[in-house]
Amino acid sequence: MPAVILQKGGIGGLGMNITRRGAIGAGLASLVPGVAGAAQPQAGVQAPGFFRSKVGAFEITSISDGAAYRPLDGFIKNTPVDEVRKVLGEAFMAQDQVTIPFTSLVVNTGKKLVLLDSGNGDLGAPTTGSWMANFRAAGFDPANVDAVIISHFHGDHINGTRLKDGRAVFPNAEVLVSAPEWDFWMDDGKMAQAPEGMKGAFQNVRRVFGPMAKDVTRYDWGKEIVPGISAVAAPGHTPGHTVFAIQSGAAKFLMMSDLTNNTALFVRRPDWQAIVDMDGEQARQTRHRMLDVAASEKMQVAFYHAPFPATGHIARDGAGSYQLVPAMWQMPG
Ligand SMILES: [Zn+2]
Repeated sequence: MPAVILQKGGIGGLGMNITRRGAIGAGLASLVPGVAGAAQPQAGVQAPGFFRSKVGAFEITSISDGAAYRPLDGFIKNTPVDEVRKVLGEAFMAQDQVTIPFTSLVVNTGKKLVLLDSGNGDLGAPTTGSWMANFRAAGFDPANVDAVIISHFHGDHINGTRLKDGRAVFPNAEVLVSAPEWDFWMDDGKMAQAPEGMKGAFQNVRRVFGPMAKDVTRYDWGKEIVPGISAVAAPGHTPGHTVFAIQSGAAKFLMMSDLTNNTALFVRRPDWQAIVDMDGEQARQTRHRMLDVAASEKMQVAFYHAPFPATGHIARDGAGSYQLVPAMWQMPG
């Protein structure tokens, strides 16, 4: 059946054939899952979300925690909403909301199993929460994680380390956090001064880190945190927001964390400022600096909030604009 349709003018002819020739339309229907006659019902769930990249001797696994959705109105502070809608449309994304996917990284250096951020745990939107199932599907056991390195203290990055009931998820892991991030969020004075809408975030930081505060290791920008993974200053989204340079031999990889909250918007329009960036102007400058480095050095990058598997390369796309070119499937090993 498809061969007949292709002879009649390829994909363009497909719609015509369906509307004008009922017999062919009915035949095609049997090829569409879920239409009456399919032997198996539609699955209704996403496939396991993990993806491997090889960086020198390191194996990096991207782990999906699903996605959440935010209202479009007011999300970008310095751009008319119609312009934002247009750029979302150009990326074939829903134009009435902002889609925010979540993807953290597991880096197996061969000596240590290191987690970069931990997902939403059991406190995220109903469309999230698949992180642990995907982590296990990728062959990992939480008891084997040696280090959890946190980029910043927003709930979608830290809640996976401690569940609602208070249980620590990675019982044998050292938890390492950005020193300036810790200093900001653990400061009771800053919490007292914070607007009402931010108080919950301060309380959540205390919920996650309070029980282990004396054991948490604070890392400094510009230093190697564990062998092969270094902390790079990227403030703006939060005061201590950090991106990670991963290096094995000559191979380099950059984990961009929340340098953007939606790559279709902020990689293409780095000047746009998101309401979730605590210092919008500083975030804008940091974003330009890091995207420029990634494009110049042509290294593979990952983002915490990008279409899965949320990794690829940054290409220049006109003055001050960039695009994320998705990574090609690759065989690790
Ligand atoms: Zn985030």
